[in-house]
Amino acid sequence: MNVVRDIHRSLQMDSKSSYMDLLFADLDKKFEAIFDAIDLPNIDLAASIEAVKKIDPRVDPKLVQVIVQKKLDAIFADAECAACGRRLRKKHTLQRKAVTSIGTMTFACPYYFCPACNSYHSPYEETLRLSQGPYQKDFQKIAARLAVNDTFEEAANILNELYQVNISPDTVHSLTHAFAEGVELTEVIPSAEEVLKIVERISAGQHRRPVFVFAADGAMLPIRSAEKGAPNIWKEAKGVRGYLLDKDHVVHLLSWHQIASKQDFIDYLWEIRRQNIIPRDKVRLCFIGDGAGWIWEAVQEVFPECRQVLDYYHCSHHLYDFAQIHFANDPDRISEWVEQTKVRLFHNNVQHVISGLKRMRCRTEEARQRRDRLVEYLSTHKSRVDYGRLRRGGYPLGSGAIESANKFICHIRLKRSGVWWRVDRANNILKLRCARYNRQFDKLAAQQEPSPRGGRVRHGVKLRRIK
Ligand SMILES: [Zn+2]
Repeated sequence: MNVVRDIHRSLQMDSKSSYMDLLFADLDKKFEAIFDAIDLPNIDLAASIEAVKKIDPRVDPKLVQVIVQKKLDAIFADAECAACGRRLRKKHTLQRKAVTSIGTMTFACPYYFCPACNSYHSPYEETLRLSQGPYQKDFQKIAARLAVNDTFEEAANILNELYQVNISPDTVHSLTHAFAEGVELTEVIPSAEEVLKIVERISAGQHRRPVFVFAADGAMLPIRSAEKGAPNIWKEAKGVRGYLLDKDHVVHLLSWHQIASKQDFIDYLWEIRRQNIIPRDKVRLCFIGDGAGWIWEAVQEVFPECRQVLDYYHCSHHLYDFAQIHFANDPDRISEWVEQTKVRLFHNNVQHVISGLKRMRCRTEEARQRRDRLVEYLSTHKSRVDYGRLRRGGYPLGSGAIESANKFICHIRLKRSGVWWRVDRANNILKLRCARYNRQFDKLAAQQEPSPRGGRVRHGVKLRRIK
């Protein structure tokens, strides 16, 4: 009790103002730092906000608004036309609302007119690099990040709850697509350095090089038809996933999924190859896929030297399908034959399997057709079904890793009841989801943010430096 009383007494004795002094000294320092961070006109509003957030993530937007406004007013106090050097006349002033990741601000942005050049200038907006609408780049990034994971409605709900901005799902929709527009494959895959680091980590202490797997597969997505009144359709998103096998562990590196043609898919693989992200001397490269023709055509063209694997389960399925028809009268033989055949494949006896199939006497026309199809299938993939050796080499036999990528990247977000997508919109969401799973979303956002412009005059208005 005595201690408490002592504290009370000392508090009363100490004047309030000394506490205030302490507080203000602290605030002064912070204000100073924030004032300097808003380095107009060398950086724009987005960059200023990023800098301010590093000092105080919960900075009062009013404070930033006041500093920005005062600085701009000082910079353009005696605005001159960059072309003719004449004093510019203020025509009118627009109140520009800027919704940002620290809150909403409003700037008074005057427009100028040069009578000699007969030209209008909006130096405030150009200096700040304001977006067209109220929503600024940093806010757009947050909107896109939310909409990539959930519906536009839910993203709008979260934004409204956090920022009290009253944004509609439609606006979140357009912000997200604007953010994804122009994003390319090369921006959403990791760099060669990132990949090398992972390869070296999982290679440590291993006697053989790790397996670098590419897996490809398609996923059907609900697409709104381009013509009015035409029925909706399902289109295939072609996906490729690159990962490393750390023993049986999948170490994800990259995913890229797009609704695209076979040729587009080939071009994507070329793009991945050109990026040189695979340390060829440190890994064993392999490609796994099901029987889809577009996959193997692309692999033969772009990665002809890599080990190729026909998905084991896909292959078993084909064997089973045939056996069911062929041994329809003798159901016990079905699984017996399938198991025997799988053992032969494991022992690299695909040629025997094919010869055996050809010798088989088929009772029905259907069985004969199925047999011929299976022969063709196995002949096409002869070099991809040496499962015994593949397993000993530590290669994957199943394409479960791409199937789960399809589920996470394509299905979860794009297959919702009643939702039909435009192809370009679906592809935009896919790009952003790939960026997210490839851990490249922030890099993507950083590339979109305008860089400091290094004091070049691009305003049509001469800048007066302020200190
Ligand atoms: Zn002029």
